[in-house]
Amino acid sequence: MRPDGRVTGGRVTSGDAELSVVRNGHIVDPASGRDEIGDLWFRDGRIIDRPSDDEAKGASVVDAAGRLVLPGLVDMHTHLCEPGYEYRETLESGAAAAAAGGVTGVACMPDTEPDLDDAPAVRFVRERAAGVPVHVYPIAAVTAGRAGERLTEIGELADAGAVALSDAERTVRNPAILRRALEYARMFDLPIIAHCEDPSLSAGGLMHEGSHATRLGLKGIPSIAEETIAARDIMLAEWTGGRLHLTHVSTAVTVGLVRSAKQRGVRVTADVSPPHLVLTDEALSSYDTHLKVNPPLRTRADVEALREGLADGTIDAVASDHTPRSVDEKNTEFQEALPGAAGLETMLSVVYTELIAPGLLTWNDAVRRMSTAPSGILGTEGGSLASGSPADFILFHPDGTWTVDPASFRSRSGNTPFAGRVLKGGVTMTVVAGRVVYRCDDPESS
Ligand SMILES: [Zn+2]
Repeated sequence: MRPDGRVTGGRVTSGDAELSVVRNGHIVDPASGRDEIGDLWFRDGRIIDRPSDDEAKGASVVDAAGRLVLPGLVDMHTHLCEPGYEYRETLESGAAAAAAGGVTGVACMPDTEPDLDDAPAVRFVRERAAGVPVHVYPIAAVTAGRAGERLTEIGELADAGAVALSDAERTVRNPAILRRALEYARMFDLPIIAHCEDPSLSAGGLMHEGSHATRLGLKGIPSIAEETIAARDIMLAEWTGGRLHLTHVSTAVTVGLVRSAKQRGVRVTADVSPPHLVLTDEALSSYDTHLKVNPPLRTRADVEALREGLADGTIDAVASDHTPRSVDEKNTEFQEALPGAAGLETMLSVVYTELIAPGLLTWNDAVRRMSTAPSGILGTEGGSLASGSPADFILFHPDGTWTVDPASFRSRSGNTPFAGRVLKGGVTMTVVAGRVVYRCDDPESS
């Protein structure tokens, strides 16, 4: 159904303040406890309670029969590549990709050129993003130039609108610096988002270290490269009382570390990306560079542990780690290809096809992991359809199927590990602050 979609940019209603209603959809909103066929009313960019019968008569109506009505997804980990890498993605193309994927809020990593490591850079992204169709939340760097040596001005970054701090795909190697970052960030209630990878253990690695790497003759990245840093970072969070978020966790041991830390009351949260919930290192036999991601695809046992952790709430969120790469950066030898996968436009259908439809995750839990929880961790509005919340929501058609075709992506980059895969269900409408930012009028159904 995706190729038929188009961005309308129009409003559901003709006037800003006009009353609108989404009728007869299956509303799933854990924040307000709704899981029922019903109506969703909104006006002036906000969800409202049902108005009086008299007033309701004049409302503009969207028919949602047969559709799920969900709070817009909030994606905690994306690379929108602007400024500096506009050949891969821009704030505009990334936002269009988000809207097509049902994502109404995206947090973007600071690994731009220049890095988002000072207040003017954060303000630049916020100002540029004011004109795009979804909410964009900048994540600022923990250290200047993400070089791991000198802390950024965390207070100024918070004032400028940073929602979290991270050195993106670089681990803060010096524990004394991470300790101070956790202490300062705590004063502003900002989470530190950690990519856990000890570079001395992963150096030169191309895929998960295991029997498949041995067979393929590719140098491996051992699980322990992630786990030692996850353990260290959790201990520092426990020691400082700061907020730590482990992003794209990939191993069973890391899931266990997060689970036991939560039981001790450590302020730690975690996310997982869809490729790690679905694919394993065995698939690398094809040497397909689109399967090269960081952290690498792990084993079947790791996938099972990640799914279990997601289902029981140990893992709080699903985040795409949307990492656009150009054709040249992927169509090269496996050793040379850059890691990363574009993920915004496939995230929800992958989770639906692989986890919800088979009964491993309920819709209620999926909405928690993809909207309510990430919104709460980042401290943004959204993640709720309660009265007074922003009118950020999506309509999802659960019955159709579509084949992933990178040529139809809104993203500037088509580097998906899911190309050619048949997925179930698709987003038919995305609404941000009461505005329709994506609509797929003619969903194919099979
Ligand atoms: Zn990333």
